[in-house]
Amino acid sequence: MSATLYIVPTPIGNLEDITLRAIRVLQETDLILAEDTRNSSFLLKHLNISKPLKSYHQHNEHKILQEILELLNQGKNIALISDAGTPGISDPGFLLVREALQHNITVCTLPGPTALIPALVNSGLPCNEFSFYGFLPQKKGRQTKLKQLALEEKTFVVYESPFRLLKLLEELKTHLGPKRTACVCRELSKLFEENKRGTMDELIAHYKDKTVKGEIVVVVQGNKDQEENEDE
Ligand code: SAM
Repeated sequence: MSATLYIVPTPIGNLEDITLRAIRVLQETDLILAEDTRNSSFLLKHLNISKPLKSYHQHNEHKILQEILELLNQGKNIALISDAGTPGISDPGFLLVREALQHNITVCTLPGPTALIPALVNSGLPCNEFSFYGFLPQKKGRQTKLKQLALEEKTFVVYESPFRLLKLLEELKTHLGPKRTACVCRELSKLFEENKRGTMDELIAHYKDKTVKGEIVVVVQGNKDQEENEDE
């Protein structure tokens, strides 16, 4: 008898952003796999949930895959959570989902928090179609990716660390031009949430002499929208 692997999104800042279903699944599951067990203990304590926790992160995900599949095959229901948002989205999860499906195990991903969707909608840029690039490669492949982004017609979303935000904006200016618009979404759902919209030049001027803190999503206008706006 095989059980279900649940992929459970958790809040990206505001602890109220967890669904009733996510809480129930976490209460009912036999084991919770967590990216950082210490970090997740805080959330689980807040939710009054006491369940066995096992760490599952990018450094051990290959190693413990078989062990998890065996537990699922024994009929144990397992929930995977990450530090924030939806597992598998710039977080460990994909490998486990793929392996589980290959072993005919039911995978059930709950709808819930992720940083990219509120950032995209909040940006005010067209969101009927969009591309998500996660974190850009830091060294090898970065220039190729930036050239690819210059050809991107749709609104696109990237994740970036606060320490590299200015560098990213300057690179985007070089490859996409100074007039391309974007929205820098910082600390979404938290007390000091900030959504700064503007052209690359305006955003660079805004962030240039500041120490940028917090978590960041950058949503960038696609080249089609820029062309259409210039034609009007
Ligand atoms: N799994 C997560 C999700 O579903 O969005 C993403 C995890 S990834 C390791 C962490 C990155 O997500 C951060 O560096 C930042 O780019 C983005 N992020 C997470 N929480 C955020 C928040 N509250 N505000 C802005 N960006 C956030």
